[in-house]
Amino acid sequence: MIKVLDSFVADKIAAGEVIERPVSAVKELVENSIDAGAGSIIVEIRKGGKSYIRVTDDGCGISFDEAETAFLRHATSKITGITDLDNIVSLGFRGEALASISAVSRLTMVTRRAEDISGVKLVLHGGRVVTKERTGCNTGTTVIVEDLFYNTPARRKFMKTDAREASSIIELIQQYAVCYAGIRFMMINNGMTLFSTNGDGDPYAVISLLYPSLAKNGLLPVSSSSVKGYVSDPGSTMSTRKGQLFFVNGRLVSSAVIEKGLEEGYQGRIFSGFPAAVLFIEAEPCDIDVNIHPGKQEIRFLRQDDVRSGIAEAVSKAVMTGAGVPKGFVKKIESDAEKQLNVDVQQKKETGSAEQTSIREFLKNLEERDSHKESREIPESVEDPEIKMASAVAEEPELLYTPLSSQAKAAPEPVRIPAPFDFAELTYKGYIFNTYIIMQGSDEVYIFDQHAAHERVFYEKFMRGYNNSAHSPQPVLTAFTINVSNDVYSMSGEWLGDLVRMGYDIEDFGDCTFIVRGIPPYMSLSEAEGFARGYAEAVGETGGINRVVVDKLITKSCKSAVKAHDVLSEQEITDLMSELAKCDNPYSCPHGRPTFIRISSYDIERSFRRK
Ligand code: ADP
Ligand code: MG
Repeated sequence: MIKVLDSFVADKIAAGEVIERPVSAVKELVENSIDAGAGSIIVEIRKGGKSYIRVTDDGCGISFDEAETAFLRHATSKITGITDLDNIVSLGFRGEALASISAVSRLTMVTRRAEDISGVKLVLHGGRVVTKERTGCNTGTTVIVEDLFYNTPARRKFMKTDAREASSIIELIQQYAVCYAGIRFMMINNGMTLFSTNGDGDPYAVISLLYPSLAKNGLLPVSSSSVKGYVSDPGSTMSTRKGQLFFVNGRLVSSAVIEKGLEEGYQGRIFSGFPAAVLFIEAEPCDIDVNIHPGKQEIRFLRQDDVRSGIAEAVSKAVMTGAGVPKGFVKKIESDAEKQLNVDVQQKKETGSAEQTSIREFLKNLEERDSHKESREIPESVEDPEIKMASAVAEEPELLYTPLSSQAKAAPEPVRIPAPFDFAELTYKGYIFNTYIIMQGSDEVYIFDQHAAHERVFYEKFMRGYNNSAHSPQPVLTAFTINVSNDVYSMSGEWLGDLVRMGYDIEDFGDCTFIVRGIPPYMSLSEAEGFARGYAEAVGETGGINRVVVDKLITKSCKSAVKAHDVLSEQEITDLMSELAKCDNPYSCPHGRPTFIRISSYDIERSFRRK
């Protein structure tokens, strides 16, 4: 039942529903359709939504008697009292959207409940009912918004170009389609169907269809009780956060807390950029406040730390697996992926012929690229699903109606259930360039960087030793000296004490030299020597330290602890592997670079065009 909230409750809904652009109207209408339990939602726009917006659903519909009430301010069927505000399970709750949209447009609503013989058609101009009549129609609701802001010229000025407005709307519908994979969405722009999803409930299929670049390298499934979704492997990052979609209780949100949790989940394995992630987070409605933003895009978590650590833990489980090991040859693919995302996001959303040309151009480039493949080191498969996707848009829009399950099959990498990475399964296959160790797993080859691996092993050994063991120096047979530059020498007050605390017996020997008579018990002689030197120099570089940067300095100094271009014996390789296997995070060096990469037998076969 749609009722007008009393003024006390209404006042609590402080944020107010603001329709400032066509996309805000579309968002409210689509949210209403979702709240109405729709299984199918069709969104059609013309001229970026400025002249025409139509949202059609097969949801519960509205009765003849209540049709007008829905347009009153603070009229809602979703909450009744003040306590409900703390327990919002629907997307809408303010009862303001239809009132706000109808006030600034010419609006037509056609709606029928399943149990009614006939439906109702209601026309409002500037919020005033012009006609109300019974009509035959399908179950569900269609809302048509024409000439948005026709009576508010000031608002009209703030709208962007048709293409930009269309772009925002299409992006929004793509996001909802991913979040509500169980609902069939169809997006029509200027008479052209851009995409439709089949509502079979598989978000990965929708991601593959609408964001092929995200799915291209294969996303890792995240699954904990409150966090589900997909994240990219640490090697496939993007330069912006465009590849991050967060949904809390079915609501698309931007949230620094979630971003932080996501980042933490990678445990320092992101070398640069931002991981791609589509996360569905479930929270108790009473633990979030969704009423802090006019567009409801931001929410407040009442228990931020729990949310953050819950996300970090779930992401970490997904990433710290064999599937999370960065793929070899990823560089080229990665930059293509980013380019492609921009094509997805920008060009697909431009209007009419502009879109056609740009995608054709894009295809032409791809073709040219393909014809040069022979000369490329690692050819990519001709069976590129993105190429298929783009051609579908450019030439045969109806192709997009093919069942999503077949689209999903075209996704390059099937969703895998992550298994913990097992070093014991690897066999040693070789050693190349005096730097890289080749190990073979059941279906993949792994290439380890001995330096990165050493750094990781040393870093963890060091941190463990530093935290757990007594810091009394272990005497060395022959004392050694360390020479530093003048500036580092003059700053010895800054770093000498640290080394002593770490377990060095070290003393000023005059003339820019220090003598070391004892080393920390958890280091070998060469490690201790390299580390002391690296630490002193690192302090010199940063020009002084405080407690906060000590960890960074240690990280940096690890590098010097590992001798460059050491040729390792097979025994040393075996030792290194078993030490790495014992690390908490064997996947990346302390600087975030991968310690090893993987190349699947599939990738190799593909490169030889066997697949
Ligand atoms: P809110 O969504 O905050 O309740 P709205 O102004 O968006 O407020 O909608 C007012 C009421 O109209 C809703 O509470 C709902 O009962 C009804 N309504 C709106 N859109 C639809 C729809 N597509 N299908 C069924 N009912 C709808
Ligand atoms: Mg609403």
